[in-house]
Amino acid sequence: MRERTIEALPIDSTRLCCNFVNTVYSWRGEDNEDFFKNYDDFIAWCSKLGVAKENQLRALKAKAKREKKKASLALHRIRDLRLLLYHVISAIASQDKKEFEKVLKRINPALQASFAHYQLELIGNKFVPSFQSDPDSLISPVRKVLLSLNEMLVWDDVHRIKQCPGCGYVFYDETKNGKRRWCNPLACGTKDKMKRYTKKLKSRR
Ligand SMILES: [Zn+2]
Repeated sequence: MRERTIEALPIDSTRLCCNFVNTVYSWRGEDNEDFFKNYDDFIAWCSKLGVAKENQLRALKAKAKREKKKASLALHRIRDLRLLLYHVISAIASQDKKEFEKVLKRINPALQASFAHYQLELIGNKFVPSFQSDPDSLISPVRKVLLSLNEMLVWDDVHRIKQCPGCGYVFYDETKNGKRRWCNPLACGTKDKMKRYTKKLKSRR
């Protein structure tokens, strides 16, 4: 079994919002171990994916250390948002319009709250979407995740938003033929192949 740390966590999607959802071991079955065991894990994940500048993340981590109760509340809020994103993306992946309309009502307030901090930054000669630095808010890095969801829903092809039938991880299908099925062919894809193979063997007996 591979180690379940942020460091060892594989990054299987090209979209930040999907990778944020994929931070539990599995969304299906009984093994739902959380990679965000504490607030520091969340910061380690943000650092791994470059969600915010390192000095901002360090400041948040120091604040969480000083204000333990706030850090625990923030972790709850982050997990709640992750669950909400999971529902949003799986509703799209399964083309469940009714469910999507239901969750849209819940995701919109989160988007509005995030966009209140939105700003454009000029880096070199390019405009880059960004957020004001907000050292008081322990959940502030999630704003970038919500921006990524917003961009995926508005700009990308929603038919390529998919969910792994094995573990429930979500991803954006970047393959040429649009036929990607698994979060990772070496993880769930292989497990499924093994399952079908043993079933075939049994049926031959
Ligand atoms: Zn999977």
